[in-house]
Amino acid sequence: MYRIGEGFDVHRLETGRKLRIGCVDIPSPVGSVAHSDGDVLAHAIVDAILGAIGEGDIGRHFPPSDARWKDADSKIFLAEAARLLAARGGRIANLDSTVILERPKLAPHIPAMCATLAAALGCESSVVSVKAKSAEGLGAVGAGEAVEARAVVLVEVRA
Ligand code: MG
Repeated sequence: MYRIGEGFDVHRLETGRKLRIGCVDIPSPVGSVAHSDGDVLAHAIVDAILGAIGEGDIGRHFPPSDARWKDADSKIFLAEAARLLAARGGRIANLDSTVILERPKLAPHIPAMCATLAAALGCESSVVSVKAKSAEGLGAVGAGEAVEARAVVLVEVRA
């Protein structure tokens, strides 16, 4: 049977932080404020997968209060979500996502994001889609103060 999950994440942006999106380090004067590596897209994808299989959210599995996840590489979170899915005999049928960021432009990095996310999830990169938009100057994202990501995943699991 098929199940669907959606995920959302937002991180504040500050000068001097690292900007990692979709497991790719993006050259930028600002980066995500976070306990882990602040990968907004990876976190939205993890939430989408966990949601699809009724496993709660990323905070339940990787609480920010746990020192183990300080500066943690979000590939660990993706791999764990994929492991929980596989434990149900499941696989990712399709994963679509959108990153909303005012600058820098992400288009040149999208192929690397799809390849790296797929490797972390153990799926084909052909089923991973990443899209990027600006917020047209509106709100906190438009002001360059935040980055958002949304993800929808369709998984096939044992009935
Ligand atoms: Mg997050």
